[in-house]
Amino acid sequence: MAPGRAGGHLFRHTLPRATIPGKMKLHEYQSKRIFGQHGVPVPQGYCVDTAEEAVHAAEKIGLPVVIKSQVLVGGRGKAGGVKVAKTLDEVREKAAAILALTIKGLPVRKVLIDPAADIRSEIYLGIVIDRASRRAVLMASAAGGMDIEEVAHTAPEKIVRVPLDPFLGLPEYLARDIAVAIGLPREYWAQFAAIARGLAAAFLATDASLAEINPLAMVADKDGKITLMGLDGKLVIDDNAMFRHPDLEAQRDPDEETAAEKEARETGINFISLDGDIGCMVNGAGLAMATMDVVRFFGGSASNFLDVGGGAKADKVASALRLILADPKVKAVLINIFGGITRCDEVARGIIEAMKIVEVKVPMVVRLVGTNQEEGNRILESAHLHAANTLGEAAQKAVALAKA
Ligand code: GDP
Ligand code: MN
Repeated sequence: MAPGRAGGHLFRHTLPRATIPGKMKLHEYQSKRIFGQHGVPVPQGYCVDTAEEAVHAAEKIGLPVVIKSQVLVGGRGKAGGVKVAKTLDEVREKAAAILALTIKGLPVRKVLIDPAADIRSEIYLGIVIDRASRRAVLMASAAGGMDIEEVAHTAPEKIVRVPLDPFLGLPEYLARDIAVAIGLPREYWAQFAAIARGLAAAFLATDASLAEINPLAMVADKDGKITLMGLDGKLVIDDNAMFRHPDLEAQRDPDEETAAEKEARETGINFISLDGDIGCMVNGAGLAMATMDVVRFFGGSASNFLDVGGGAKADKVASALRLILADPKVKAVLINIFGGITRCDEVARGIIEAMKIVEVKVPMVVRLVGTNQEEGNRILESAHLHAANTLGEAAQKAVALAKA
């Protein structure tokens, strides 16, 4: 097949392109707001970014409050990023302390101030896309809370898994079945079903790849009456669907992305950082993976996956090279372009342009084949690059140069 056809050009040009393959994570406060819109009871709190504002929020809410770091990683509780405060002084102190934390490499910039809940027990409730069953699967467990990963590992039978029919979603009877299956007492079945169906509705409405409430807590009020409430929320949106969710796109946290990921998203380049030391720039996802395999075959390993996409113009190639070279691990760069709609001369010009902007300190191996390859190679002649005719030759050279 002609390389320009590989990977379905019809789709490339008629559907919005994936940028970072995957996802946009929403913060807890954003996720809970969306769950709340779908009927899940959630605490009414305030998201703030200073200790003083935290105190004001606590005055409005009433004490005690829980102070929760808003960073896009799990396990904040165990990292000291979730604290209950009983006095305003405590709020100020603990909010300041949490705002000074860095959790799993992410600096805490915002905290959520929620009314503290009197938690009696914690349920796990989540929906993910299960690739094996090609469906959304709901998971629930009475052993919720901070150790759900541990439960999944050591006692998977404690997690109930229910695939959702794409046409039926989560009907009431099924939601109740789940309540029964996790051993909830009868008086909570209706509440649980409403929450599970609300979560399923939120999952569908936002084109999520993950929607999770952990803990879904049994919370006691002043009189000891117990109700279910979503105390934590996590929502991950499929990036391919962002074009129809401008409201969610507006909630994207720019701090979530590394500078490289941001540039990749904005320029429409598929880019994923990896652990190796050979930077790869390729057009087409399949060819990019094949290139990485060939690098591996010759004893090297790629520092990234990068698909510049079909018809990449010079400026995009320049961005791609900048992305690759921003990684200090990179010891050699391998450029493998199979020119179809992408023209080799355009790519060559992009490489030359990029080399004017970014200082290239590592050797670069280039293999250009296909449309306008002669012109492309002529443009590159002056640039002190290592040319190669086949992918095998190119990969071998890149591996040798990276090791040298
Ligand atoms: P995660 O560790 O990132 O998942 O953060 P969570 O929001 O799930 O909070 C971690 C733990 O803090 C929960 O499992 C609860 O045990 C506890 N927690 C969260 N909110 C409250 C609250 O309002 N009151 C109390 N007492 N504990 C809370
Ligand atoms: Mn949690």
